[in-house]
Amino acid sequence: MTQQSSITPFLTAPSPNTPPYEDSIQPVKKKQKISRKKTSWIWEHFIEGFSDKNELIIICQVEGEEGKKCNVKLKHDGSTGNGISHLWSVHKITKDGKQPVNKQQKLDVIKKHPEKRQNTLRQFLVNWIIDDLQPFSVVNSPSFRIFCNELDPAFLVPEAKTIKAIIHQAYNFTYPKMVEQIGKEAISVALTADLWTGKNRKGFLGITCSYIDPDFVLKEVILAIEYVKYPHTAEHIAECFEGILKKWKIRHITATITTDNEKKQLNC
Ligand SMILES: [Zn+2]
Repeated sequence: MTQQSSITPFLTAPSPNTPPYEDSIQPVKKKQKISRKKTSWIWEHFIEGFSDKNELIIICQVEGEEGKKCNVKLKHDGSTGNGISHLWSVHKITKDGKQPVNKQQKLDVIKKHPEKRQNTLRQFLVNWIIDDLQPFSVVNSPSFRIFCNELDPAFLVPEAKTIKAIIHQAYNFTYPKMVEQIGKEAISVALTADLWTGKNRKGFLGITCSYIDPDFVLKEVILAIEYVKYPHTAEHIAECFEGILKKWKIRHITATITTDNEKKQLNC
């Protein structure tokens, strides 16, 4: 920003053919639009905000084809580098604005895979998130999005909520099949339960169901990792159990429930 003052006087009489190469060089018209002190051209595309962790961030306001704002959140570290590389790699926007239409059309041709391919790639991404226990929000990371975009500009990197939806879909698809399978194969089941405390200090009850199928093969199914209301009294844990037994239709065939020796759990 220190270079700003040395460049500004020069700007008052710009040569008509001088392209504004520097980030800080602003056509006078654009300057008037910006009411804040911020002089970089990126403020035409970003607003400031706060993250969940209360950190200062910048949020992309570029509108996509369907008029939906990009809303990608970037770290606000005082420099405009993050914003500039996002605008370029994702929106093909430079300080001169959107790339010329003919160039943009060429980019559009390679821009999207057909839906089937998108789904395949999305599934690979979800597999990685699950297998390596990545947070869903990893897909919102600007650096990650840039990385994907550079690897394959034809892949639309999904948002965290899409990832969640895909995992829910998979669950909804599998759940009735598992209920059916347990109902068919198990004569009686044994449950193991453990109470965990998550990073957010919330209690979760993990319940695993084991049984021997007609071919004498031991099967194990993780039925649920359920949130338990605080305080973690015997009643709340029992309530949680009841819900799971009902949901999985195994109440009548549950032979044993094994837990660790926590007193509260024994009480259930
Ligand atoms: Zn954006």
